[in-house]
Amino acid sequence: MASRQRRQIEEEEEEEEVDVQQQSEGEEAAAEAAEEEDEAFIPISRLQDVNGITAADIKKLQEAGLNTVQSIVHSTKKMLCAIKNISETKADKLIAEAMKIFKTGFTSASLVNQARKQIIHLTTGSKELDNLLDGGFEAGSITELFGEFRTGKTQICHTLCVTCQLSINQGGGEGRALYIDTEGTFRPERLLEIAERFGLDGESVLNNVAYARAYNTDHQLQLLVQASAMMSESRYSLLIVDSATALYRTDYSGRSELSDRQRHLARFLRGLQRLADEFGIVVIITNQVVATVDGSVFNANPIKPIGGHIIAHASTTRLSLRKGKGENRICKVYDSPSLPEEEKQFAIYGYGIGDIKDE
Ligand code: ATP
Ligand code: MG
Repeated sequence: MASRQRRQIEEEEEEEEVDVQQQSEGEEAAAEAAEEEDEAFIPISRLQDVNGITAADIKKLQEAGLNTVQSIVHSTKKMLCAIKNISETKADKLIAEAMKIFKTGFTSASLVNQARKQIIHLTTGSKELDNLLDGGFEAGSITELFGEFRTGKTQICHTLCVTCQLSINQGGGEGRALYIDTEGTFRPERLLEIAERFGLDGESVLNNVAYARAYNTDHQLQLLVQASAMMSESRYSLLIVDSATALYRTDYSGRSELSDRQRHLARFLRGLQRLADEFGIVVIITNQVVATVDGSVFNANPIKPIGGHIIAHASTTRLSLRKGKGENRICKVYDSPSLPEEEKQFAIYGYGIGDIKDE
């Protein structure tokens, strides 16, 4: 049964694009950001009045959550044509113009190496954890934190909401945070305590964290469209989804809904990856675990993250958390393209994540 389910999930892995409608929300810095030529992303308005692309076309694209030239490069022609009033000819023009700005294709490993050195890493608050992660949580990809309850997933998210606002040389990202909460465990008062530790003004730290409670999986997906609009208007360095999978477990129950669930989850994760790429932000998702029941006495690790192959493929770095003694916790690199499978201890304090105290 389990293997049939797994096969079904794999078959459903074909990717789809986030096609939800935009709920644009005004942000004061729109015009300012649009003029910043050295921004990592280029606003979609750059394509207006080029090769017959009109203001009305730009509006339609924005309503579909495409706010940057990068988002056009990442879209397939089929995705663009699925947007109301975007014809095949218009889609061709959009892609051609976006490609002119973003010279896509092969590049040398040396240039990739240089670009990787520029990638922002957000400090976790613990030196040990930062070392484990080669500097902290990496921007541009999805990092998954999974573990049982009370292992510190939400506490790490709270600490990052503050450290992402620090300057780059302090281990920050000089940007705002966007927090999607599906479990109702976001606590702004925790941010105040953590802000104090880093010498930041509590009120401004809170003002730099955009919070949304997601109530169902459609809403959770929809919030990414809004997130994209907000990120194109001011500098964000962090997006958190705590937890990415909880609502999927309640919205889709039973085996018959499994493939629908995985397809929806894949769309959500693809949307997250797009935001990570486009805006160079750190994306953190948290995930629950389930006990594996394979009946084997050799099963040394009876716990596994939920979400199957869809989450496994979408998360670039996967970190497993477990409890240690007292406030101590253990973080293990479960999967990463560049980090060894090591583990380090950290602790949860009133002031957020820190190193363990010597006894
Ligand atoms: P779940 O799966 O239930 O969401 P989680 O992994 O997100 O769990 P967290 O909420 O991050 O768990 O961690 C809870 C732990 O953090 C608890 O052990 C709690 O004692 C500790 N904790 C919470 N607030 C503080 C604080 N102000 N000072 C010290 N420890 C705290
Ligand atoms: Mg939690």
